[in-house]
Amino acid sequence: MERYKNYIGGEWVDPAGGEYFEDRNPADTRELIGLFPKSSREDVDKAVAAAREAYRKWRLVPPPKRAEILYRVAQRLVELKEVIARDMTRENGKILEETRGDVQEAIDMGFFIAGEGRRLHGYTTTSELPDKMAFCIRVPIGVAVVITAWNFPMAVPSWKIFPALVCGNTVIFKPSEETPLTAHHFVKVFEECGLPPGVLNLVHGLGPEAGQALCEHPGTDILAFTGSTEVGRQVAEIGARGYKRVSLEMGGKNPIIIMDDADLDLAVQGCIWGAFGTSGQRCTAASRLIVHKAVYKPFLEAFVERAKALRVGNGLDPQTQMGPIINEAQLRKVEHYVELGKQEGARLMCGGYRLTEGDLKYGYFYAPTVFADVHPSMQIAQDEIFGPVVCVIPFGTLDEAIEIANGVRYGLSSAIYTRDVRNAMVAIRELQAGITYINAPSIGAEIHLPFGGVKQTGNGHREGGIQVLDIFSEWKAVYIDYSGRLQRAQIDTDRLVQLGD
Ligand code: NAD
Repeated sequence: MERYKNYIGGEWVDPAGGEYFEDRNPADTRELIGLFPKSSREDVDKAVAAAREAYRKWRLVPPPKRAEILYRVAQRLVELKEVIARDMTRENGKILEETRGDVQEAIDMGFFIAGEGRRLHGYTTTSELPDKMAFCIRVPIGVAVVITAWNFPMAVPSWKIFPALVCGNTVIFKPSEETPLTAHHFVKVFEECGLPPGVLNLVHGLGPEAGQALCEHPGTDILAFTGSTEVGRQVAEIGARGYKRVSLEMGGKNPIIIMDDADLDLAVQGCIWGAFGTSGQRCTAASRLIVHKAVYKPFLEAFVERAKALRVGNGLDPQTQMGPIINEAQLRKVEHYVELGKQEGARLMCGGYRLTEGDLKYGYFYAPTVFADVHPSMQIAQDEIFGPVVCVIPFGTLDEAIEIANGVRYGLSSAIYTRDVRNAMVAIRELQAGITYINAPSIGAEIHLPFGGVKQTGNGHREGGIQVLDIFSEWKAVYIDYSGRLQRAQIDTDRLVQLGD
């Protein structure tokens, strides 16, 4: 069985403590994919030292030259897309179509952000004093720690690593312990494409060990985190103690509103994709369908029929439409919430059980599950379950629907199906979310628009778009006074107007 290594200072190295963890296939746990380093503080110290050393030079490399490497990385990913997608399906269970999309997102992000190498725009502006000019520029920050979730094992790291690098920071990447192989492939491509040693380091390991040590280390400056709201809070607390820049992308409980004037076929199709794509394990998954009473019955019937018909299985099989749940703990969590939903009085329309026929018994498969007549205050309608479990909630007016949609602690994605432009515009204005879709499900963000959420989903930052550059750079204001005398802002300005007469 292959023992993979960390990548520190341009070398592939064993973990200092000699300990490893297993990476297994969630669709068939008999398959051990590899053994990966269980890194300790000692490994983290080495990675931080390497990243700090590399930062001294990398920050001075002209951004267009940094970007040339990123272009090469994106191009190489195009060539490796199929190989990486297959390995990603093996380790995280998503169906092949989706893992190809995951790699594609990293490719898109690579090309998009590499373009920033020749922009990284600041702006020039006026000065209130004569013979003085003013402008502002982006400057790098230092060493960025990138800690990511398993569900988008290449896309999400790419949202952070490409912009961090183009801005002139160096990076230590601690991927999810569920998807270390994808991270290994990703980092190898950077090495192959000529990224200098120490600029990107890979430290595998467990969150509370390697992850926490990286957050606490005084030699790291940015903590760029994607994961659960609970862990995000811990990262934020550690970051605050160290005066670090902290960017958090966390959980969601995303609503889709279906109005009485919606194209119902389109809505059903979108809701199936939104709810059961990635087995419901997306931060943007549609876990609450808020349906107008006038179309509640036909919508529910059609939706449940489609949910029951989904083909669940190994994601490598092209016939499969939904893969497994990521691990045993997550499966238990889904089972717990389904029991809770029944106790709370929601109506179980389909699913609600583990799938174990044939080879499915070797994986963590769960039937697509729909609860109807859910009250918005029920726990199943409030908590992020992160599995193939959907709550269908009836409503009477758009105001009511929006109140239900906004009545959770999260605020990532949202959607409305309607043919009425007024409903759409009111939803855009009122929905408390970082993303709103009209006549499309809650999933499907494109990389050149800002991505992130409000309330307990985020802390004010956005990934994607050029907005991501604000996470990985500081603004510096520059004033150039060529008057040859002391000029005092705010004090000398009145006199200057008179002198101008
Ligand atoms: P998680 O919070 O368990 O783990 C995320 C990462 O944090 C992993 O790499 C883990 O090793 C690390 N970690 C765990 N404990 C840590 C600690 N004490 N200190 C430092 N690092 C630690 O989340 P997960 O199960 O991997 O992913 C699912 C969650 O991620 C869901 O809540 C989902 O909504 C969220 N997510 C959000 C987005 C987004 O962009 N908003 C995208 C994908 C996933």
